[in-house]
Amino acid sequence: MCREAARIPQDAGGLAWPGWTDGTGRPRGYAAVLELLKKHFGYDRFLPLQESIIDSVMAGRDTFALMPTGGGKSLCYQLPALALPGLTLVVSPLIALMKDQVDALQANGIPADFVNSTMTAAGAAEVQRRAADGRVKLLYVAPERAELPEFRHWLAAQSVSLIAIDEAHCVSMWGHDFRPAYRKLSQLREAAGPAPVIALTATATPQVRQDILSQLGLRQPGVFVSSFNRPNLTYSVQPKKGAQAALLALLERHRRRSAIIYCQSRKSTEEMAEMLARQGFRAEAYHAGLEAGQRLDTQNRFIRDETHIVVATIAFGMGIDKPDVRLVAHYDLPGSVEGYYQETGRAGRDGQPSDCVAFYSYADKSKQEYFIRQLEDETERERAQWRLEQVLSLYQRRTCRRRFVLNYLGEDWDAANCGGCDNCLRPTEQYDATEPAQKLLSAAIRTGQRFGVRHLAAVLLGHSTSKVLERGHDKLPVFGIEQDLSLDELRALTEDLKAEGLLETADGEYASLLVTDQGRAFLKNRETLTLTRPIKAASESRTPLHRPRLPEDGAAYDGGLFRELSALRKRLADERGVRAFVIFSNRTLEDMARRVPRSVPEFAQVSGVGQAKLNDFGGPFLELIGRYAEQHGLEPPAGQPSMPDNLRQSRLPQEEQPPREVSLRVRETGRIVSGGASLAQAAAAQGVTEERVTHQLERLVQAGIPVELWHLLPPPARRMRIETALRATGGELLKPARELLGEDYGYIELRLVRLVMRQLRAAAPV
Ligand code: ADP
Ligand code: ZN
Repeated sequence: MCREAARIPQDAGGLAWPGWTDGTGRPRGYAAVLELLKKHFGYDRFLPLQESIIDSVMAGRDTFALMPTGGGKSLCYQLPALALPGLTLVVSPLIALMKDQVDALQANGIPADFVNSTMTAAGAAEVQRRAADGRVKLLYVAPERAELPEFRHWLAAQSVSLIAIDEAHCVSMWGHDFRPAYRKLSQLREAAGPAPVIALTATATPQVRQDILSQLGLRQPGVFVSSFNRPNLTYSVQPKKGAQAALLALLERHRRRSAIIYCQSRKSTEEMAEMLARQGFRAEAYHAGLEAGQRLDTQNRFIRDETHIVVATIAFGMGIDKPDVRLVAHYDLPGSVEGYYQETGRAGRDGQPSDCVAFYSYADKSKQEYFIRQLEDETERERAQWRLEQVLSLYQRRTCRRRFVLNYLGEDWDAANCGGCDNCLRPTEQYDATEPAQKLLSAAIRTGQRFGVRHLAAVLLGHSTSKVLERGHDKLPVFGIEQDLSLDELRALTEDLKAEGLLETADGEYASLLVTDQGRAFLKNRETLTLTRPIKAASESRTPLHRPRLPEDGAAYDGGLFRELSALRKRLADERGVRAFVIFSNRTLEDMARRVPRSVPEFAQVSGVGQAKLNDFGGPFLELIGRYAEQHGLEPPAGQPSMPDNLRQSRLPQEEQPPREVSLRVRETGRIVSGGASLAQAAAAQGVTEERVTHQLERLVQAGIPVELWHLLPPPARRMRIETALRATGGELLKPARELLGEDYGYIELRLVRLVMRQLRAAAPV
């Protein structure tokens, strides 16, 4: 893969990647990698999955990394870029972000640069010349440039070690940021030779994920998916009735802290911002109709805490990295569940408890459906309708919202109670739903299964609406027989009956409710039904929800010192014309304020301080800290923690890493299987039985060694059944699960499914 090893730049320290997957002494290689990590990035250990991903890339494999925002994706190609001999090409969709990334790398002393359409041809040529000379290790380009024949031509003459495709979901029409130029990226590798490709994204439903793998033409990629759960976020959905007052109360609770409110139209963002300003909040509207300069000013004021609330269309947020947003409110419906996850994901990036509140009314749905009907392209229309239904399903459900979102994103999350969404936090009760269910199903049948829940509710509640009278539904025996439930409760019951499979919504324009065969059997056989519902008194009060249980806050630090450190950071950033985080992240400043370093070696210990930053910024920061410590009599804490606890909590401390004494032979089996071999092939190659191969794979997974197993799994439906059986029987023992499943199922497939479940569990943050 390294066609020209002669061009090792100085910054890589001439370090050849020792490679720990080939079994030649991991400790040495690992130490060297950790050294690079500390030297260039200032970190002592990897975040979850980073190491496995880097491992895969360094082994020359195509790699797909799916990690939530803030998961540390960039490092997964930046570190290999340093260790590999040639150039790493990074395709990134947003020119604005490109500059920040490059600034941040340069601040770490890493030779990175970009070429994009904002530069002159001469400027671009100069950068490319430096890249050709090996003076640029990471070159950032937009996908449109990567398409240009001249650029491809140039690339073909370079020694390319790695191609990184950031925000890889842009390749998919199913995603929310489709960029046609991404579709042509598979051709890029032809120009670049045998270099592996790493695709990275924070958004991918199973469909989008499949699209990424196929459209980018990844070859037997190593696939790494980390948990997308954001434990510090609390999700809730409230009826829109009285929403303004509810929103004001929420903002009051978060006063002087940062909030983002999403509205659908430009006009409504402006009206909302004005309304909030009248109520004494510092709020500004933000949408694509504003001038670029004005938008930038708003962003900057928001980042600097001069504006607390941004009322935005969903265009806002790409590229905003504000860690302390405490509230994200959806005042209108998001475009998709993915969008909802993405937008709410802008809350609480610093790991502190934050609220995500959505408001919903039935009128929103009708409005949305009206817009969808205006779409000309039929496929587009169907997709939009499907996306809307998923959002409604999220909003209307009475079971865990977190689970729904994570399952939607393809994650196998199944905790019984997440402790962090309105449905899980609200006390619930079981009740006998047999009678109301019978009434609702009968009403659907009696009215010819041509109506939605609103009409059925009107009939059951005995409302003589014009539609009811017109159709003579006031004459039906079901008219007015429901005395106990409200309209909202009937709606919720409808959702529950759908979830139970007794009712379904007809395809097509109107959401007519149809009774399923199961529903008819339920009526005919006089079956009983127990459902769960919120306890009334609690669901009606609008008391704030309880916070999720969080990891304990990090050791305390001096807030005054932190503020002075931030001010110094800002001054240095302004002098250099870069964003503040390029100098140091908030986490790094916190660690600094916690440790109160007084010497260069102590300063070097701070998380996020690498060699370059130590040289460039050590002086002014140490001076400030020294002065502050004298004035305030500050002492460094005893037994210093190496980083904020909430950060440490999410990674595997080295001492706790599983033992790695796995024989070369077993590793070889892992390599063969990861290369795409079937069990039979691997067994033949290694001269053992298939069963033995599965045992070897278990060893590997247990030792935390990455191995690609997905291609060995049975088809999805079968896999699901096996997973369900395994879970139902405690998740670990095969025999009881097999008994549940029956003779049709073999132990080997059970074992493989269990293995993948373990891998997924291991990938989730602890
Ligand atoms: P993503 O692209 O996945 O959103 P980034 O690559 O921007 O995430 O990383 C998020 C933050 O985590 C950055 O501030 C980055 O410097 C930090 N980070 C990355 N790797 C590590 C690590 N191994 N230890 C501590 N912090 C890290
Ligand atoms: Zn929940």
